[in-house]
Amino acid sequence: MKQQQADCACDEIPQSLISTSEALALLIGSARVINTTQMVMLDDALDRVLATDVRATINVPGFDNSAMDGYALHLQEDQLGVAGGVAFEITDRIPAGSIGNVLAPGCAARIFTGAPVPEGANTIIMQEECELIEKGSKIEIYRPIAYNENIRPMGNDIQSGSVILQVGLKLQPQAIALAASVGVNVLEVFNKIKVGVFFTGDELVEPGRALEAGQIFNSNRYSLVALLNKLGCEVVNLGNVEDTLDATCSALERLSAECDLVITTGGVSVGEEDHVKPAVEKLGELSLWRIKMKPGKPLAFGNVGDSAFIGLPGNPVSAMVTFLLFARPFIKKMQGVSDYLNTTVRVEANFDWHRSKPRREFIRVCLDHNTAPAKASQYPKQGSDILSSMVWADGLIEIPEKTTFKSGEILNFYPLSEMML
Ligand code: AMP
Ligand code: MG
Repeated sequence: MKQQQADCACDEIPQSLISTSEALALLIGSARVINTTQMVMLDDALDRVLATDVRATINVPGFDNSAMDGYALHLQEDQLGVAGGVAFEITDRIPAGSIGNVLAPGCAARIFTGAPVPEGANTIIMQEECELIEKGSKIEIYRPIAYNENIRPMGNDIQSGSVILQVGLKLQPQAIALAASVGVNVLEVFNKIKVGVFFTGDELVEPGRALEAGQIFNSNRYSLVALLNKLGCEVVNLGNVEDTLDATCSALERLSAECDLVITTGGVSVGEEDHVKPAVEKLGELSLWRIKMKPGKPLAFGNVGDSAFIGLPGNPVSAMVTFLLFARPFIKKMQGVSDYLNTTVRVEANFDWHRSKPRREFIRVCLDHNTAPAKASQYPKQGSDILSSMVWADGLIEIPEKTTFKSGEILNFYPLSEMML
């Protein structure tokens, strides 16, 4: 009940707030791609971001080869398409990795998957369709045969000179394998970005210690560090910082000197215990945005020297949701990822939305995949302090401001599994 009352009060908001899309555009517009790169071996390339295009210098496959274990034939014109038993003398054997002899007209070579098609051969028949006759010296085939069956032609996958991987790609196993398939063993990737973090709130205690009256455990520290690790950032973690202007300033100064980005949680409201805003204003520049969204109204953005700064709200759900919706695409752009925006899928609301709200809401939902589109049901408590909702949820459903709808409405869904990659 208390929760509901608080939510109702928050719904009365002035018009000066900015929308989620404006906030995202402002952030993305000022994200600068890291300009240093390094060379990494393929085994170290997973999840790194490609800094240059990769071009093939060979064809793959490099030669016509067999798609089957079977027999390469030098089919003669009068044998083409003949339905009866056509016999071929076996004159060669070609395992993968070796080169066969020239195949004479009317002859067959035993051949294995991946072995080069010998000169003279014009088709390959799989072994299941051949019958060995005359003590295994010949094969006989009972179905019509065409030219070029089961031959994988040179350059079928990749042609020499073509770009196979593009700058900005976050390297996944399949891309690393493709580089290997053209003989590339090192890749140029963007350097990891260094992100400094600290946490504000004198009420915060590290898990593992005992709580005293009025204290809570610091959960943001763990969500944020884990989220940054997932994104492949180098993290410098100062832990919890005392709620004073001096302590906040010295943490900011220290981190901004060595990091590409500093992220904090809490202390971005305008109460006298909120020192992040004055500290960033003193050392750099700050825009404090009040975003028309729930959870997570306050978001601070600016810079201290060459380091960018993002101040996330303190409530644990707000901190995670604003990180995922704003900080994540910002960081991906800084990392050089070309595909930095979050993707959504369309799902069906399994609930009514009776009251029109002035702020866009990001509701924690679970999906039932037994219907198409999947049906989204909401967690019963949607407060910005209800961290269990994030563990329960498959993702966030986006409910536009000033709207009402009945169950069955089609809405955007942000899958948590994808945003955690
Ligand atoms: P603030 O933005 O500092 O006013 O904090 C808003 C709410 O989030 C308060 O209830 C804080 O106690 C809580 N909070 C702030 N930081 C953390 C944190 N690191 N872990 C868990 N809760 C937090
Ligand atoms: Mg605080």
